Amino acid sequence: MLLFSDKFLVLSVLLNVLVLGGVLFACWLVQRHKRYLLWLVAGYVLSAFGLAWQSVMPAGDLTRWCLVTGVIYLAGAWSLARGMGMRYSVSAHPLAALAIASCTLALLYYYAFIHEDLWARVHLINVGLGLLQVLPVPAMLMRIPAGDRLGRIVCWSYAAFACYTMVRPALLLAVAPLSKTMELTLSGYWLATLAGSLLFALWFTAMLVASVVRDAMAALREERNRDPLTQLLNRRAFFEAAQHCLGDVRQGPWMLLTCDIDHFKQVNDNWGHAVGDEVLCRVARLLAEQAREGGLAARFGGEEFVLLLPHTASEHAQSVAQGMCQQLSAMHIDAIGGSITASFGVALPTSPADLPRALTQADALLYRAKQSGRNQVCMP
Ligand code: GH3
Ligand code: MG
Ligand code: MG
Repeated sequence: MLLFSDKFLVLSVLLNVLVLGGVLFACWLVQRHKRYLLWLVAGYVLSAFGLAWQSVMPAGDLTRWCLVTGVIYLAGAWSLARGMGMRYSVSAHPLAALAIASCTLALLYYYAFIHEDLWARVHLINVGLGLLQVLPVPAMLMRIPAGDRLGRIVCWSYAAFACYTMVRPALLLAVAPLSKTMELTLSGYWLATLAGSLLFALWFTAMLVASVVRDAMAALREERNRDPLTQLLNRRAFFEAAQHCLGDVRQGPWMLLTCDIDHFKQVNDNWGHAVGDEVLCRVARLLAEQAREGGLAARFGGEEFVLLLPHTASEHAQSVAQGMCQQLSAMHIDAIGGSITASFGVALPTSPADLPRALTQADALLYRAKQSGRNQVCMP
């Protein structure tokens, strides 16, 4: 049996892993749509349970229970792989996982009950676990956006642990050779395995929680910046982003367009508010399409929109604005069985500080377009 001090160490390692699982569970409680966190919690709990059980098991029982503990470890590794796959929206290849798990269990059976060899089983289960864990890694690495450094750290940490799992017995035995007669769960190998698992769980959980918090902040920022109906930028976010854009001279010259749907009130009056909303979304999609290459599209309120377009010299501004006006009036909207029109004002901001002036000018020109009969563009 284990010495009291070793038992204490084993217990504290496993409790720590469970606490870290608890941290991920708490993250899931406040962000329930992140279901991958539950798979990771399951991975921690199953692995910790398997290690705990084997740690307190009399040496003679290791063989008898090896298929059950094997299933627990394999289920833990699969849960981790499934969780990581879900996080990055890639497959953890369940069929390949099933094949790996079946082979591992068949070989465990062979080395337990036909040709007993404890160390063959130790190598085998670790290779099986590592292979299961590594399944989603190639697709995960391809999915991470280039600028996501934290995402890369999480992925590479996970991948490194999966590879380490495969070679763990060989590596640890090379560092701390073990007599063949020594009981496995009394050995330095076993304690090093536990300590390694804890170290990984600590590092991985810290990085994962950091990336979960970062994602939550980004989602909040996105929610704060977007108009909930059309998903275009709102007025505040437009000012912030436009200041940034106008400071980038390589993208200039810039063109500013204000746009107000004509007689929009009649759409609401004739077809109802829901149809009015649909019309706003269609117009927003058209504007977002125009702005997709380095421009900005915003809803300033009601049926008023603003576009900021890069690389538009003053001699092209009129044709760009006319093109938009014609595209809008040619767009068939099923919900109203026809089309709508809008009026446009144009200005050419020259710097971030020039933005308020340009907006006032474009608004004044938009007002003039309305006065002149609507469905037209007024240029400075
Ligand atoms: P004009 O050609 O002079 O611009 O006339 P208009 O009817 O477009 O302008 P007006 O300012 O008289 O009416 C705008 C309407 O837009 C009134 C308001 O109910 C409607 N509106 C504002 N926000 C929304 C919204 O989020 N959804 C819907 N469906 N309607 C909205
Ligand atoms: Mg209007
Ligand atoms: Mg209006």
